[in-house]
Amino acid sequence: MPRVNPTRTPMSEQAPEERIRNFDEVPYGYTVEEAMAEAQRCLLCKRPTCMDGCPVHIDIVGFLELAAKGDFRAAVNLIKESDALPAITGRVCPQETQCEQVCVMARKYEPVAIGRVERFLADWEASQGDMPTPELAPPSGKQVAVVGSGPAGLTVAADLARLGHRVTIFEALHEAGGVLVYGIPEFRLPKAIVRREVDYVCGLGVELIKDFVVGQTATLDELLTEYDAVFLGSGAGLPWFLDLPGENLSGVYSANEYLTRSNLMKAYRFPEYDTPIARGRRVITIGGGNVAMDACRTALRLGAEESIVVYRRSREEMPARAEEIDRAEEEGIQFMYLTTPVAIHGDERGQVESLECLRNELGEPDASGRRRPVAIEGSNYRVPADIVIMAIGQSPSPLIPRTTADLDTKKDGVVVTDPPTGKTSKRGVFAGGDVATGGATVILAMGQGRTAAAAIDEYLKTGVW
Ligand code: FAD
Repeated sequence: MPRVNPTRTPMSEQAPEERIRNFDEVPYGYTVEEAMAEAQRCLLCKRPTCMDGCPVHIDIVGFLELAAKGDFRAAVNLIKESDALPAITGRVCPQETQCEQVCVMARKYEPVAIGRVERFLADWEASQGDMPTPELAPPSGKQVAVVGSGPAGLTVAADLARLGHRVTIFEALHEAGGVLVYGIPEFRLPKAIVRREVDYVCGLGVELIKDFVVGQTATLDELLTEYDAVFLGSGAGLPWFLDLPGENLSGVYSANEYLTRSNLMKAYRFPEYDTPIARGRRVITIGGGNVAMDACRTALRLGAEESIVVYRRSREEMPARAEEIDRAEEEGIQFMYLTTPVAIHGDERGQVESLECLRNELGEPDASGRRRPVAIEGSNYRVPADIVIMAIGQSPSPLIPRTTADLDTKKDGVVVTDPPTGKTSKRGVFAGGDVATGGATVILAMGQGRTAAAAIDEYLKTGVW
Protein backbone atom coordinates (compact mmCIF):
# COMPACT_ATOMS: atom_id res chain seq x y z
CA MET A 1 0.00 0.00 0.00
CA PRO A 2 1.35 3.46 -0.86
CA ARG A 3 1.92 5.87 2.04
CA VAL A 4 0.20 8.61 0.09
CA ASN A 5 -3.28 8.66 -1.31
CA PRO A 6 -2.89 7.59 -4.97
CA THR A 7 -6.04 9.36 -6.14
CA ARG A 8 -6.91 13.05 -6.17
CA THR A 9 -9.50 14.47 -3.83
CA PRO A 10 -12.57 14.86 -6.02
CA MET A 11 -14.15 18.31 -6.45
CA SER A 12 -17.93 18.42 -6.45
CA GLU A 13 -19.71 20.10 -9.34
CA GLN A 14 -23.13 20.76 -10.83
CA ALA A 15 -24.67 17.71 -12.49
CA PRO A 16 -24.53 17.87 -16.31
CA GLU A 17 -28.31 17.78 -16.79
CA GLU A 18 -28.69 20.69 -14.37
CA ARG A 19 -25.77 22.87 -15.51
CA ILE A 20 -26.68 22.92 -19.21
CA ARG A 21 -29.71 24.97 -18.20
CA ASN A 22 -27.76 27.75 -16.46
CA PHE A 23 -24.58 29.83 -16.76
CA ASP A 24 -23.41 29.23 -13.18
CA GLU A 25 -19.88 27.98 -12.54
CA VAL A 26 -19.65 24.22 -13.01
CA PRO A 27 -17.26 23.12 -10.18
CA TYR A 28 -18.03 24.20 -6.61
CA GLY A 29 -14.40 24.23 -5.43
CA TYR A 30 -12.81 22.44 -2.47
CA THR A 31 -13.90 22.74 1.15
CA VAL A 32 -11.23 23.48 3.79
CA GLU A 33 -10.92 19.77 4.59
CA GLU A 34 -10.69 18.76 0.92
CA ALA A 35 -8.04 21.40 0.17
CA MET A 36 -5.91 20.30 3.11
CA ALA A 37 -6.29 16.63 2.22
CA GLU A 38 -5.21 17.29 -1.35
CA ALA A 39 -2.27 19.49 -0.31
CA GLN A 40 -1.15 16.70 2.03
CA ARG A 41 -0.72 14.42 -1.01
CA CYS A 42 2.30 16.50 -2.06
CA LEU A 43 5.55 14.56 -1.49
CA LEU A 44 7.42 17.84 -0.71
CA CYS A 45 10.14 16.90 -3.20
CA LYS A 46 13.56 18.37 -2.44
CA ARG A 47 14.05 19.15 -6.13
CA PRO A 48 10.48 19.78 -7.30
CA THR A 49 9.77 19.38 -11.01
CA CYS A 50 6.29 20.93 -10.78
CA MET A 51 7.79 24.42 -10.54
CA ASP A 52 9.65 23.90 -13.82
CA GLY A 53 6.31 23.14 -15.43
CA CYS A 54 4.86 26.48 -14.30
CA PRO A 55 5.53 29.35 -16.73
CA VAL A 56 5.78 31.82 -13.80
CA HIS A 57 7.59 29.40 -11.43
CA ILE A 58 5.18 29.58 -8.51
CA ASP A 59 6.67 28.02 -5.36
CA ILE A 60 4.22 25.14 -5.61
CA VAL A 61 5.74 22.87 -2.99
CA GLY A 62 5.97 25.85 -0.63
CA PHE A 63 2.31 26.79 -0.94
CA LEU A 64 1.12 23.17 -0.77
CA GLU A 65 3.11 22.63 2.42
CA LEU A 66 1.53 25.71 4.01
CA ALA A 67 -1.95 24.75 2.79
CA ALA A 68 -1.50 21.21 4.16
CA LYS A 69 -0.96 22.76 7.61
CA GLY A 70 -3.96 25.08 7.23
CA ASP A 71 -1.87 28.27 6.99
CA PHE A 72 -3.92 29.59 4.07
CA ARG A 73 -2.87 33.24 4.48
CA ALA A 74 0.82 32.42 4.13
CA ALA A 75 0.07 29.99 1.28
CA VAL A 76 -1.85 32.53 -0.80
CA ASN A 77 0.74 35.24 -0.12
CA LEU A 78 3.42 32.89 -1.42
CA ILE A 79 1.50 32.24 -4.64
CA LYS A 80 0.98 35.97 -5.12
CA GLU A 81 4.71 36.57 -5.14
CA SER A 82 4.72 35.05 -8.64
CA ASP A 83 1.08 35.09 -9.75
CA ALA A 84 -1.12 38.14 -9.11
CA LEU A 85 -4.32 36.44 -10.29
CA PRO A 86 -4.53 32.99 -8.60
CA ALA A 87 -8.35 32.83 -8.56
CA ILE A 88 -8.16 33.03 -12.35
CA THR A 89 -5.17 30.81 -13.07
CA GLY A 90 -6.42 28.22 -10.55
CA ARG A 91 -9.51 27.94 -12.74
CA VAL A 92 -8.27 28.24 -16.32
CA CYS A 93 -4.58 27.21 -16.46
CA PRO A 94 -3.94 24.00 -18.44
CA GLN A 95 -2.33 22.40 -15.36
CA GLU A 96 -2.45 18.93 -16.92
CA THR A 97 0.17 19.99 -19.49
CA GLN A 98 2.15 22.19 -17.10
CA CYS A 99 2.78 21.74 -13.34
CA GLU A 100 0.61 18.64 -12.86
CA GLN A 101 2.10 16.85 -15.86
CA VAL A 102 5.56 16.88 -14.28
CA CYS A 103 4.40 16.29 -10.68
CA VAL A 104 6.46 13.35 -9.34
CA MET A 105 3.24 11.69 -8.11
CA ALA A 106 2.11 11.45 -11.74
CA ARG A 107 4.79 8.85 -12.47
CA LYS A 108 2.79 6.25 -10.52
CA TYR A 109 -0.47 7.79 -9.32
CA GLU A 110 -2.67 10.78 -10.02
CA PRO A 111 -0.77 14.08 -9.79
CA VAL A 112 -1.53 16.48 -6.94
CA ALA A 113 -4.47 18.71 -7.99
CA ILE A 114 -2.32 21.84 -7.79
CA GLY A 115 -4.78 24.07 -9.64
CA ARG A 116 -7.68 23.10 -7.39
CA VAL A 117 -5.73 23.94 -4.23
CA GLU A 118 -4.58 27.23 -5.79
CA ARG A 119 -8.17 28.10 -6.62
CA PHE A 120 -9.28 27.20 -3.08
CA LEU A 121 -6.63 29.48 -1.55
CA ALA A 122 -7.59 32.45 -3.74
CA ASP A 123 -11.29 31.98 -2.95
CA TRP A 124 -10.47 31.58 0.74
CA GLU A 125 -8.66 34.94 0.64
CA ALA A 126 -11.63 36.60 -1.06
CA SER A 127 -13.97 35.17 1.59
CA GLN A 128 -11.92 36.95 4.30
CA GLY A 129 -13.04 40.39 3.06
CA ASP A 130 -10.95 43.09 1.37
CA MET A 131 -7.69 41.96 -0.18
CA PRO A 132 -4.78 43.62 1.63
CA THR A 133 -3.08 46.27 -0.54
CA PRO A 134 0.70 45.85 -0.62
CA GLU A 135 3.00 48.70 0.27
CA LEU A 136 3.73 50.95 -2.72
CA ALA A 137 7.14 52.47 -3.48
CA PRO A 138 7.29 56.28 -3.28
CA PRO A 139 6.13 58.04 -6.51
CA SER A 140 8.81 57.91 -9.21
CA GLY A 141 7.39 60.79 -11.22
CA LYS A 142 7.23 58.52 -14.30
CA GLN A 143 4.06 57.70 -16.24
CA VAL A 144 3.29 54.52 -18.15
CA ALA A 145 0.40 53.84 -20.54
CA VAL A 146 -0.85 50.24 -20.74
CA VAL A 147 -2.90 49.33 -23.79
CA GLY A 148 -5.43 46.61 -22.97
CA SER A 149 -6.74 45.30 -19.64
CA GLY A 150 -6.34 41.56 -20.19
CA PRO A 151 -4.11 39.43 -17.94
CA ALA A 152 -0.92 40.86 -19.54
CA GLY A 153 -1.98 44.50 -19.09
CA LEU A 154 -3.32 43.97 -15.56
CA THR A 155 -0.08 42.27 -14.47
CA VAL A 156 2.13 45.03 -15.89
CA ALA A 157 -0.08 47.71 -14.34
CA ALA A 158 -0.03 46.10 -10.89
CA ASP A 159 3.75 45.54 -10.89
CA LEU A 160 4.56 49.07 -12.10
CA ALA A 161 2.14 50.70 -9.64
CA ARG A 162 3.83 48.81 -6.80
CA LEU A 163 7.16 50.19 -8.01
CA GLY A 164 5.83 53.75 -7.66
CA HIS A 165 5.07 54.57 -11.31
CA ARG A 166 1.82 56.26 -12.40
CA VAL A 167 -0.05 53.85 -14.64
CA THR A 168 -3.02 54.44 -16.93
CA ILE A 169 -4.73 51.51 -18.67
CA PHE A 170 -6.50 52.28 -21.96
CA GLU A 171 -9.17 49.68 -22.74
CA ALA A 172 -11.18 49.55 -25.97
CA LEU A 173 -14.22 47.84 -24.42
CA HIS A 174 -16.62 49.07 -21.76
CA GLU A 175 -15.44 46.47 -19.28
CA ALA A 176 -11.91 45.55 -18.15
CA GLY A 177 -10.46 42.02 -18.16
CA GLY A 178 -9.86 41.18 -21.83
CA VAL A 179 -10.68 37.59 -22.80
CA LEU A 180 -11.39 36.86 -19.13
CA VAL A 181 -14.60 38.90 -19.45
CA TYR A 182 -15.51 38.79 -23.12
CA GLY A 183 -14.30 35.31 -24.10
CA ILE A 184 -14.29 32.78 -21.24
CA PRO A 185 -17.89 32.10 -20.17
CA GLU A 186 -19.33 32.64 -16.70
CA PHE A 187 -19.72 28.88 -16.21
CA ARG A 188 -15.90 28.54 -16.30
CA LEU A 189 -14.82 31.86 -14.82
CA PRO A 190 -17.38 33.95 -12.91
CA LYS A 191 -17.08 37.60 -13.90
CA ALA A 192 -17.27 38.73 -10.26
CA ILE A 193 -13.81 37.14 -9.81
CA VAL A 194 -12.36 39.12 -12.70
CA ARG A 195 -13.97 42.33 -11.38
CA ARG A 196 -12.42 41.69 -7.99
CA GLU A 197 -8.96 41.42 -9.59
CA VAL A 198 -9.52 44.57 -11.67
CA ASP A 199 -10.64 46.42 -8.51
CA TYR A 200 -7.49 45.23 -6.76
CA VAL A 201 -5.30 46.67 -9.55
CA CYS A 202 -7.24 49.96 -9.51
CA GLY A 203 -6.85 49.97 -5.70
CA LEU A 204 -3.10 50.27 -6.28
CA GLY A 205 -3.76 53.69 -7.84
CA VAL A 206 -3.92 52.54 -11.47
CA GLU A 207 -6.24 54.69 -13.61
CA LEU A 208 -8.52 52.75 -15.97
CA ILE A 209 -9.89 54.53 -19.04
CA LYS A 210 -12.50 52.43 -20.86
CA ASP A 211 -14.04 52.85 -24.34
CA PHE A 212 -10.66 54.13 -25.58
CA VAL A 213 -9.38 52.50 -28.76
CA VAL A 214 -5.66 53.09 -29.21
CA GLY A 215 -5.07 53.62 -32.92
CA GLN A 216 -8.42 55.38 -33.19
CA THR A 217 -9.21 57.54 -30.14
CA ALA A 218 -5.49 58.39 -30.00
CA THR A 219 -2.51 56.81 -31.71
CA LEU A 220 0.28 55.04 -29.90
CA ASP A 221 2.65 57.81 -31.08
CA GLU A 222 0.36 60.37 -29.41
CA LEU A 223 0.45 58.38 -26.15
CA LEU A 224 4.24 58.43 -26.32
CA THR A 225 4.27 62.24 -26.23
CA GLU A 226 2.54 62.11 -22.84
CA TYR A 227 3.90 58.89 -21.26
CA ASP A 228 7.46 57.81 -20.54
CA ALA A 229 6.77 54.26 -21.75
CA VAL A 230 3.92 52.25 -23.27
CA PHE A 231 3.08 48.57 -22.75
CA LEU A 232 1.12 46.95 -25.54
CA GLY A 233 -1.12 44.18 -24.19
CA SER A 234 -3.84 44.36 -26.79
CA GLY A 235 -4.23 40.59 -27.22
CA ALA A 236 -5.18 38.62 -30.32
CA GLY A 237 -8.78 39.50 -30.98
CA LEU A 238 -8.92 39.11 -34.76
CA PRO A 239 -10.73 35.83 -35.52
CA TRP A 240 -9.71 33.59 -38.39
CA PHE A 241 -12.11 32.18 -40.94
CA LEU A 242 -11.62 29.21 -43.26
CA ASP A 243 -12.61 31.11 -46.40
CA LEU A 244 -15.32 28.55 -47.15
CA PRO A 245 -18.11 29.14 -49.67
CA GLY A 246 -21.15 30.27 -47.64
CA GLU A 247 -19.27 31.97 -44.79
CA ASN A 248 -21.33 35.14 -45.33
CA LEU A 249 -24.64 33.39 -44.71
CA SER A 250 -26.78 34.51 -41.80
CA GLY A 251 -26.07 32.23 -38.84
CA VAL A 252 -22.29 32.07 -39.30
CA TYR A 253 -20.40 33.54 -36.34
CA SER A 254 -16.79 33.82 -35.28
CA ALA A 255 -16.48 32.34 -31.78
CA ASN A 256 -15.18 35.73 -30.74
CA GLU A 257 -18.43 37.48 -31.72
CA TYR A 258 -20.64 34.66 -30.42
CA LEU A 259 -18.94 34.59 -27.01
CA THR A 260 -18.69 38.38 -26.74
CA ARG A 261 -22.41 38.73 -27.42
CA SER A 262 -23.19 36.13 -24.79
CA ASN A 263 -20.63 36.99 -22.09
CA LEU A 264 -20.08 40.72 -22.30
CA MET A 265 -23.33 41.92 -23.83
CA LYS A 266 -25.46 39.42 -21.85
CA ALA A 267 -27.28 38.37 -25.01
CA TYR A 268 -28.69 35.35 -23.19
CA ARG A 269 -30.83 37.81 -21.27
CA PHE A 270 -32.18 39.59 -24.41
CA PRO A 271 -34.50 41.60 -24.50
CA GLU A 272 -33.62 42.65 -20.92
CA TYR A 273 -30.21 43.48 -22.50
CA ASP A 274 -29.97 45.17 -25.95
CA THR A 275 -27.82 42.67 -27.85
CA PRO A 276 -29.56 39.67 -29.43
CA ILE A 277 -27.95 36.37 -30.38
CA ALA A 278 -29.27 33.74 -32.78
CA ARG A 279 -30.36 30.66 -30.84
CA GLY A 280 -29.91 27.68 -33.11
CA ARG A 281 -31.57 24.30 -32.76
CA ARG A 282 -28.53 22.54 -34.27
CA VAL A 283 -25.26 24.40 -33.73
CA ILE A 284 -21.92 23.34 -35.23
CA THR A 285 -18.65 24.65 -33.81
CA ILE A 286 -15.53 24.21 -35.94
CA GLY A 287 -12.28 23.81 -33.96
CA GLY A 288 -10.81 21.86 -31.05
CA GLY A 289 -9.33 24.38 -28.60
CA ASN A 290 -10.63 26.06 -25.45
CA VAL A 291 -12.46 28.60 -27.58
CA ALA A 292 -14.35 25.85 -29.39
CA MET A 293 -15.28 24.15 -26.09
CA ASP A 294 -16.56 27.47 -24.71
CA ALA A 295 -18.62 28.14 -27.84
CA CYS A 296 -20.23 24.68 -28.09
CA ARG A 297 -21.12 24.62 -24.39
CA THR A 298 -22.51 28.16 -24.56
CA ALA A 299 -24.71 27.09 -27.50
CA LEU A 300 -26.16 24.32 -25.32
CA ARG A 301 -26.93 26.77 -22.54
CA LEU A 302 -28.56 29.10 -25.10
CA GLY A 303 -31.03 26.31 -25.84
CA ALA A 304 -29.51 24.30 -28.72
CA GLU A 305 -31.02 20.81 -28.95
CA GLU A 306 -27.83 19.54 -30.55
CA SER A 307 -24.39 21.10 -30.25
CA ILE A 308 -21.76 19.49 -32.45
CA VAL A 309 -18.00 19.99 -32.66
CA VAL A 310 -16.25 19.41 -35.98
CA TYR A 311 -12.51 18.83 -35.61
CA ARG A 312 -10.03 17.79 -38.29
CA ARG A 313 -7.81 15.60 -36.09
CA SER A 314 -8.66 13.04 -33.36
CA ARG A 315 -9.62 13.48 -29.69
CA GLU A 316 -6.05 12.95 -28.43
CA GLU A 317 -4.87 15.93 -30.45
CA MET A 318 -7.49 18.41 -29.32
CA PRO A 319 -5.67 21.38 -27.77
CA ALA A 320 -8.49 22.25 -25.33
CA ARG A 321 -7.98 21.56 -21.62
CA ALA A 322 -8.70 17.87 -20.94
CA GLU A 323 -11.08 18.73 -18.10
CA GLU A 324 -13.18 20.94 -20.38
CA ILE A 325 -13.36 18.26 -23.11
CA ASP A 326 -14.56 15.78 -20.46
CA ARG A 327 -17.19 18.24 -19.26
CA ALA A 328 -18.34 18.96 -22.82
CA GLU A 329 -18.77 15.21 -23.37
CA GLU A 330 -20.71 14.84 -20.11
CA GLU A 331 -22.99 17.66 -21.23
CA GLY A 332 -23.89 15.79 -24.40
CA ILE A 333 -21.80 17.71 -26.96
CA GLN A 334 -21.35 15.54 -30.05
CA PHE A 335 -17.85 15.32 -31.54
CA MET A 336 -17.15 14.68 -35.20
CA TYR A 337 -13.42 13.93 -35.41
CA LEU A 338 -11.27 13.59 -38.53
CA THR A 339 -13.63 15.88 -40.40
CA THR A 340 -12.82 18.78 -42.75
CA PRO A 341 -15.54 21.37 -43.48
CA VAL A 342 -15.61 22.41 -47.15
CA ALA A 343 -18.73 24.58 -47.59
CA ILE A 344 -21.67 26.07 -45.75
CA HIS A 345 -25.03 25.80 -47.50
CA GLY A 346 -28.01 28.11 -46.97
CA ASP A 347 -31.70 28.30 -47.76
CA GLU A 348 -33.50 30.80 -50.01
CA ARG A 349 -33.50 33.40 -47.19
CA GLY A 350 -29.71 33.25 -46.89
CA GLN A 351 -29.87 31.37 -43.57
CA VAL A 352 -27.44 28.51 -42.78
CA GLU A 353 -28.96 25.11 -43.52
CA SER A 354 -26.04 22.66 -43.43
CA LEU A 355 -22.28 22.20 -43.29
CA GLU A 356 -20.66 20.13 -46.01
CA CYS A 357 -17.71 18.06 -44.82
CA LEU A 358 -15.14 15.54 -45.99
CA ARG A 359 -13.88 12.64 -43.91
CA ASN A 360 -10.15 12.64 -43.11
CA GLU A 361 -7.55 9.96 -42.62
CA LEU A 362 -4.26 10.46 -40.79
CA GLY A 363 -1.20 10.93 -43.02
CA GLU A 364 2.49 11.63 -42.34
CA PRO A 365 3.49 13.69 -39.26
CA ASP A 366 3.58 17.46 -39.85
CA ALA A 367 5.91 20.12 -38.37
CA SER A 368 4.18 19.76 -34.96
CA GLY A 369 4.96 16.02 -34.93
CA ARG A 370 1.26 15.15 -35.11
CA ARG A 371 -0.04 13.04 -38.00
CA ARG A 372 -1.48 15.35 -40.64
CA PRO A 373 -5.19 14.93 -41.38
CA VAL A 374 -5.72 14.23 -45.08
CA ALA A 375 -9.20 14.69 -46.58
CA ILE A 376 -10.57 11.66 -48.47
CA GLU A 377 -11.66 12.84 -51.92
CA GLY A 378 -15.32 12.13 -52.68
CA SER A 379 -16.28 11.43 -49.05
CA ASN A 380 -18.52 14.54 -48.97
CA TYR A 381 -21.58 14.57 -46.73
CA ARG A 382 -23.77 17.28 -45.21
CA VAL A 383 -24.59 17.88 -41.56
CA PRO A 384 -27.79 19.89 -41.01
CA ALA A 385 -27.27 23.04 -38.89
CA ASP A 386 -28.75 26.49 -38.41
CA ILE A 387 -25.71 28.08 -36.71
CA VAL A 388 -22.03 27.57 -37.58
CA ILE A 389 -19.36 28.97 -35.25
CA MET A 390 -15.74 29.35 -36.38
CA ALA A 391 -13.29 28.67 -33.54
CA ILE A 392 -10.11 27.95 -35.47
CA GLY A 393 -7.78 30.61 -34.07
CA GLN A 394 -7.10 34.31 -33.89
CA SER A 395 -4.32 36.83 -34.37
CA PRO A 396 -3.64 40.39 -33.20
CA SER A 397 -5.67 43.20 -34.77
CA PRO A 398 -3.69 45.19 -37.35
CA LEU A 399 -5.08 48.54 -36.06
CA ILE A 400 -2.17 49.60 -33.84
CA PRO A 401 0.69 48.51 -36.15
CA ARG A 402 -1.08 50.21 -39.07
CA THR A 403 -1.33 53.52 -37.21
CA THR A 404 2.12 53.44 -35.57
CA ALA A 405 5.45 54.31 -37.14
CA ASP A 406 8.34 51.83 -36.73
CA LEU A 407 6.48 49.02 -34.93
CA ASP A 408 7.67 45.75 -36.48
CA THR A 409 5.25 42.86 -36.81
CA LYS A 410 5.51 39.35 -38.25
CA LYS A 411 3.42 38.13 -41.19
CA ASP A 412 0.65 36.95 -38.86
CA GLY A 413 0.37 40.38 -37.20
CA VAL A 414 2.23 39.37 -34.03
CA VAL A 415 4.32 42.26 -32.68
CA VAL A 416 8.05 41.49 -32.72
CA THR A 417 9.61 41.60 -29.24
CA ASP A 418 12.87 40.80 -27.55
CA PRO A 419 11.61 37.91 -25.34
CA PRO A 420 13.69 38.56 -22.20
CA THR A 421 12.44 42.16 -21.95
CA GLY A 422 9.34 42.56 -24.14
CA LYS A 423 11.03 45.47 -25.96
CA THR A 424 9.59 46.14 -29.41
CA SER A 425 11.32 47.76 -32.38
CA LYS A 426 10.05 51.15 -31.18
CA ARG A 427 11.86 52.98 -28.39
CA GLY A 428 9.78 53.20 -25.20
CA VAL A 429 7.25 50.58 -26.37
CA PHE A 430 7.10 47.11 -24.78
CA ALA A 431 4.66 44.32 -25.59
CA GLY A 432 3.55 41.00 -24.11
CA GLY A 433 0.75 38.45 -24.00
CA ASP A 434 -1.18 37.31 -27.05
CA VAL A 435 -0.18 40.40 -29.11
CA ALA A 436 3.41 39.16 -28.89
CA THR A 437 2.79 35.40 -29.12
CA GLY A 438 -0.49 34.93 -30.97
CA GLY A 439 -3.33 33.17 -29.08
CA ALA A 440 -1.70 31.46 -26.05
CA THR A 441 -2.62 31.17 -22.36
CA VAL A 442 -3.49 33.39 -19.41
CA ILE A 443 -0.42 32.37 -17.41
CA LEU A 444 1.94 33.01 -20.33
CA ALA A 445 0.40 36.46 -20.84
CA MET A 446 0.89 37.18 -17.13
CA GLY A 447 4.46 35.85 -17.20
CA GLN A 448 5.32 38.13 -20.09
CA GLY A 449 3.63 41.04 -18.35
CA ARG A 450 5.79 40.43 -15.30
CA THR A 451 9.01 40.31 -17.37
CA ALA A 452 8.05 43.45 -19.28
CA ALA A 453 7.23 45.34 -16.05
CA ALA A 454 10.75 44.66 -14.75
CA ALA A 455 12.25 45.82 -18.06
CA ILE A 456 10.07 48.95 -18.14
CA ASP A 457 11.12 49.80 -14.58
CA GLU A 458 14.76 49.43 -15.61
CA TYR A 459 14.20 51.63 -18.69
CA LEU A 460 12.44 54.32 -16.65
CA LYS A 461 15.27 54.37 -14.12
CA THR A 462 18.21 54.32 -16.55
CA GLY A 463 16.79 55.73 -19.80
CA VAL A 464 18.86 53.03 -21.56
CA TRP A 465 17.04 51.31 -24.43
P1 FAD B 1 -6.49 39.76 -23.90
O1 FAD B 1 -7.01 38.96 -22.78
O2 FAD B 1 -7.01 39.50 -25.26
O3 FAD B 1 -6.73 41.29 -23.55
C1 FAD B 1 -6.43 42.31 -24.50
C2 FAD B 1 -7.24 43.54 -24.17
O4 FAD B 1 -6.81 44.60 -25.02
C3 FAD B 1 -8.74 43.37 -24.44
O5 FAD B 1 -9.47 43.80 -23.33
C4 FAD B 1 -8.98 44.25 -25.66
O6 FAD B 1 -10.29 44.80 -25.66
C5 FAD B 1 -7.92 45.32 -25.47
N1 FAD B 1 -7.56 45.98 -26.73
C6 FAD B 1 -7.33 45.41 -27.93
N2 FAD B 1 -7.03 46.35 -28.85
C7 FAD B 1 -7.05 47.54 -28.20
C8 FAD B 1 -6.84 48.88 -28.61
N3 FAD B 1 -6.53 49.18 -29.88
N4 FAD B 1 -6.98 49.88 -27.69
C9 FAD B 1 -7.30 49.59 -26.39
N5 FAD B 1 -7.52 48.32 -25.95
C10 FAD B 1 -7.38 47.31 -26.85
N6 FAD B 1 -6.15 30.55 -21.73
C11 FAD B 1 -5.95 29.74 -20.67
O7 FAD B 1 -4.88 29.76 -20.07
N7 FAD B 1 -6.94 28.88 -20.25
C12 FAD B 1 -8.16 28.85 -20.84
O8 FAD B 1 -9.01 28.08 -20.42
C13 FAD B 1 -8.42 29.73 -21.92
N8 FAD B 1 -9.63 29.78 -22.52
C14 FAD B 1 -9.87 30.69 -23.50
C15 FAD B 1 -11.15 30.80 -24.03
C16 FAD B 1 -11.42 31.74 -25.00
C17 FAD B 1 -12.82 31.87 -25.52
C18 FAD B 1 -10.38 32.56 -25.51
C19 FAD B 1 -10.63 33.57 -26.60
C20 FAD B 1 -9.09 32.45 -25.01
C21 FAD B 1 -8.83 31.53 -23.99
N9 FAD B 1 -7.56 31.42 -23.42
C22 FAD B 1 -7.35 30.58 -22.36
C23 FAD B 1 -6.45 32.26 -23.88
C24 FAD B 1 -6.24 33.45 -22.94
O9 FAD B 1 -7.48 33.99 -22.56
C25 FAD B 1 -5.36 34.50 -23.58
O10 FAD B 1 -4.12 33.90 -23.90
C26 FAD B 1 -5.12 35.69 -22.66
O11 FAD B 1 -6.32 36.30 -22.28
C27 FAD B 1 -4.21 36.72 -23.32
O12 FAD B 1 -4.11 37.83 -22.49
P2 FAD B 1 -3.73 39.27 -23.06
O13 FAD B 1 -3.71 40.18 -21.88
O14 FAD B 1 -2.52 39.18 -23.90
O15 FAD B 1 -4.92 39.66 -24.05
